[in-house]
Amino acid sequence: MTISKKIEGMMERSSWIRRMFDEGAKLKKTLGEDKIFDFTLGNPTGEPPARVSGELCKLACDNLPGTHRYMPNAGLPEVREQVAAHLAHESGLPFGAGNVIMTVGAGGALNVIIKALCDPGDEIVILAPYFAEYLFYADNHQAAVKVAQTDEKFQPVIGEIEKAIGPKTRIVLLNSPNNPTGAVYPAQTIQEISRLLDGKSAANGRPIYLVMDEPYRKLTYDDVAVPNVFKLSNRAIVATSHSKDLNLPGERIGYIAIHPGIEGAAKVFDAMTLANRILGFVNAPALFQRLVGGMQDVSPDMTVYAANRKILVDGLEAAGYEITPPDGGFYIFAKSPIADDIRFVDMLKKRNVLTVPGAGFGRAGHFRIAYCCFSEQCEKALPGFAAAAAEAKGLG
Ligand code: PLP
Repeated sequence: MTISKKIEGMMERSSWIRRMFDEGAKLKKTLGEDKIFDFTLGNPTGEPPARVSGELCKLACDNLPGTHRYMPNAGLPEVREQVAAHLAHESGLPFGAGNVIMTVGAGGALNVIIKALCDPGDEIVILAPYFAEYLFYADNHQAAVKVAQTDEKFQPVIGEIEKAIGPKTRIVLLNSPNNPTGAVYPAQTIQEISRLLDGKSAANGRPIYLVMDEPYRKLTYDDVAVPNVFKLSNRAIVATSHSKDLNLPGERIGYIAIHPGIEGAAKVFDAMTLANRILGFVNAPALFQRLVGGMQDVSPDMTVYAANRKILVDGLEAAGYEITPPDGGFYIFAKSPIADDIRFVDMLKKRNVLTVPGAGFGRAGHFRIAYCCFSEQCEKALPGFAAAAAEAKGLG
């Protein structure tokens, strides 16, 4: 055995998304890129906004002394000030650099948060369908995951969350706008969850934190707005990144924002700063910290995502699929026309349409479509979606 049994098992179970993506890469090689309709990965095909690219060129050429040195593990103080000013403006709360930690994407942020807050055996409540990496992130820190199902519109069910909370619960982790469903949680729901955590924290004699994973915060449709969690709960910690709103996923830049009024705020900040260092991140990439500090007010161009959403929602509904149109993000979590979602995803694959089975997100009987692609792909894939639905109907 050359590698650990544990990672060997993880590799076998490892995310369906990657597996489908890898199969897609093979198919593209044999059949040609334009013949494969790949909806597997949330990897935006769009480029960063022009303002971002322009500023990046300037920063790269500045070459000021010390630009590439180590820095405080929480990140560059002036960048954290810029992010804090944006958070203060949005929430009306006194955010300062001491409430912000720059991180290696949202994935890095979540690992730092779990490392800083959870002892081995502590529990994290997540809602299904969930972002599959949460299971690995929790395991990295020997935390246990408890799953609460959402309703059929993928909205949180307070009673389910309550059932999942126990004496060892440390974190309730929410993701809105949601991957894989596109659901956005309303303010009232977040308030109710926060009140639930107040009661449970008092009963447990230690705080349960409300961690919001928000990389899709700025990606919404029509008049949907994502409520500001800091206005709703003083136990809120946000993990986010610029992977999706500035189209910079490969640059690994994000941040943690800690509610200024959270219990033990200074200690929480110090713990996360140390966790950033000892997890081996040390600090977030310096150049991209400098870049995003001044980009907090940039909004993503939703034109292509809105067009793709319309093409797919209309096309899938016409083909008989049951879907809940997403309010945010760039995913549709459609009901599989047959109970076996893995088989159905295979039926789509035969039509060169690549998606991911719901089983990988903790809700079988569904499949995920990531539509952060060119609109042409959505148009061209519709006949394949329709043919697979027709075949499923024929199965009775
Ligand atoms: N959380 C959710 C819900 C995601 O969908 C993703 C990425 O797809 C992440 C976290 C990780 O984002 P990042 O690329 O910033 O690490």
